[in-house]
Formats: sequence, C-alpha cells, structure tokens
Amino acid sequence: MDPRILGNGSSRKESRTADTAFRLYWGRKAVNVADVYFLPLADMNPEGFERLASRAGRIVPKRGTSLVAVKIHPGEDGNTAFIPPRLIGMMVKALKLPVGRTFLTDTTVLYGGRRMSAPDYHLLAHEHGFTMPDLPPFIVADGLRGTGELKVELPSWCTTRSARLASILGETDAAVVLSHFKGHSLAGFGGALKNLGMGLASRGGKLFQHSSVKPRVRDGRCTGCGTCIESCGSGALTIESGVAVLNTGRCTGCGGCLQRCPSGAIGVNWDMASGEFITRMTEYALAVTLTVKVKFYANFLLNVTPDCDCMKSDGHVLVDDIGVLGSRDPVALDQASLDMVTAAETAEGSPVKCPAGTDKFTALRPQCNGSAALETAERIGMGSRRYRLVEV
Ligand code: SF4
Ligand code: SF4
Repeated sequence: MDPRILGNGSSRKESRTADTAFRLYWGRKAVNVADVYFLPLADMNPEGFERLASRAGRIVPKRGTSLVAVKIHPGEDGNTAFIPPRLIGMMVKALKLPVGRTFLTDTTVLYGGRRMSAPDYHLLAHEHGFTMPDLPPFIVADGLRGTGELKVELPSWCTTRSARLASILGETDAAVVLSHFKGHSLAGFGGALKNLGMGLASRGGKLFQHSSVKPRVRDGRCTGCGTCIESCGSGALTIESGVAVLNTGRCTGCGGCLQRCPSGAIGVNWDMASGEFITRMTEYALAVTLTVKVKFYANFLLNVTPDCDCMKSDGHVLVDDIGVLGSRDPVALDQASLDMVTAAETAEGSPVKCPAGTDKFTALRPQCNGSAALETAERIGMGSRRYRLVEV
C-alpha cells in the first residue's frame, strides 16, 4: 500500500499552545503528519510483527539496568475479547524487549470483580494465559490494593492541575502500550489514549476521572463493621447510628476505602458526564507520557466489541477483525484505528447496523463523542491527528 496522508487534524500553525505542548512532550518541534504502520490480519505472524517492530525503531533504553513496562489489559473475569497472550508475546519478542527487565502491567479497578486487589488480579491474568516463561511477568502497577500512587503536575494549559498515577511509573524507564481497540460506555471508544489515561491511573485517579471524586456509602448495605474507618487515613469515615457516614469535607478521594468494605457498601459516584470524563482521561494520558517515555504504541483491531475488556463478552463485535496498527504517536494511532473501523462494513450480529463509512461507536452511543479525546489530545500536544498510513 502506498503511504497515504489521512486524518482530520488542524494545522499546527493554528495553535501556539499545541506547539509548546508538543515540544514539551516530544522534546522537538511539532510534526504535522505522523507515521502509522498497518499489519493486516493475514500477516499477523512472527515475521509480520518483526516488520512492524522494525519500523518503530529503537525501543530498548540505552542503560543496561532500565526497566520496560508493557501496558496491557488481561481482561476481566468472563471477558474473552482481550488481546490474546500469544499475540502480546509475538509483539514483545519482535520489539526485542530485554528479558528480565521487561514486565507486563495494568492497574486495579474501582468496582467489584477479580481486579480489585493485586493477588486476585495476578490469578486472573494467569487464568487468561498471561504466564511466564512465554511472557514477561505480570506486575500490578498500583500496589496490593490500588493505593500505590504518584502525583504528577500537569502543564498550565490542561484543566486538571495534577494527576494521580500508578506508583510503578516512578520506577519505570520506558514503556510500550498495547491496546485492544473497542467501544466504551463513556469514552465512546477505547484505544491507546484510554489505555494510558485510565489504565495507568491510581484508584484515586480513576475516581477523579469517573466521578465528583468522593465515594458514597450505599443505602442498606452497611453493617457497621468499622473496617473502612481503619483504612481511611483522613478520618473521613465514622460510624453513626450503626452505619458508616462519609465526611466529604475531609475525604481526599484517594479511593482507599473502596476495596476494604467486606459488604460492598462503599461505591463510586458514577456521575461524570462523558465530555468531562474524556477531557480528564486525555489529560491523564498526557501526564503518563510526561512521566515515562512511551516508545511505541500498538492498537489491535481484533474482536472490536461494543464494550471494554472490563465487561463480560457476549460474542458480538462491531466489525470483522482488521489487523494491528503501530505508531510512536498515540493520537495518530487512535485516529487511524477509528478511521479503519469507520470504513469497515458492520459485522454479522453487530449491535448496530450502518453502512461502511459510518462511525460505529457514535451510532452505538450518540451521547458520547469519542473524537473529543483526539481533539483534546492534539490540542494539549500529545500528537497529530494527521497521519501517513503505511502497510508493512
Ligand atoms: S467497611 Fe463497609 S460495612 Fe463496614 S462500616 Fe465501612 S461501609 Fe459499613
Ligand atoms: S476515599 Fe480515601 S479519604 Fe475518602 S473516605 Fe475513602 S479512604 Fe477516606
């Protein structure tokens, strides 16, 4: 395939802020057009991944002791749509990531399930096939209970002042982000930007993105056992009339109590509108890239499900499998992925039926403007929506 210049991005000349941000992020002048490499479905074998990796250039940091994180999503219990471990293995091998200094990683989650604490998440990842020695070890990025946190200041042109990221990023020298491209109930779709911004936030950071920061005690569930009181370092929880009461003035929104309650009585206020959620998520994505140098991104356009990998799969997909896209620019990568899914016919059994050329994610959830993440990411300097697509 000839290289093609595609995408909807604005000219860099239109925004001095974007150029400043771009310099901060990339350490060089802004580029107008980023390269995105496409490995078609039929070529997804070790040789194909080698060709894709060779276009990415040098991945391994120069220092012999450097540690490399590979951000993945091993799938919630009952989900089968996540990137298969054998493909993660092919990509890791093709990138020649250093054995013994590379690890797979993800963070714990806000809600119930098997990913609330590191031990259960390790077991689940093992059950889903993310096992040594075929793959690097899987290490949870935000501690045993999701409270391992690193605070990072954001540039002045972001609406978020500081981001609460997974603590492991503070000790990581370089990263590779491998994302399953699919739908998402709030973001519209999820790719590299969502994998960065939500996937590498601490529990407190996730709470900030999803909600008005403070959790709530659910009516009728609290037994008054007091476990949460001990877990709250801010003294924001007390027992009154036999049930826990949250003092929102004292609560810092750290999210530490969410995993502690044995009765599931402490929940998230899922009250964030899609637009604000997308802005916060994207600014968190910038915070991650300002903390650790992400050397390469790949989006797997396989099992393009309506929902994210935190949900159980029902076997329905929006489009048939397409292949893998790789780039050094997460914005161009997500734009190219969206464009490819848009260009495809809807699959048999898809929950939305629309002609090729229609944005399937918007057709599925008209209330979510997934492109807002791309617009925000370009404006704050993370990359370019204009790209050159090169088949490898
Ligand atoms: S841990 Fe849960 S059940 Fe126990 S007091 Fe706190 S909110 Fe109530
Ligand atoms: S979120 Fe953190 S500060 Fe707020 S009540 Fe829970 S543990 Fe305490």
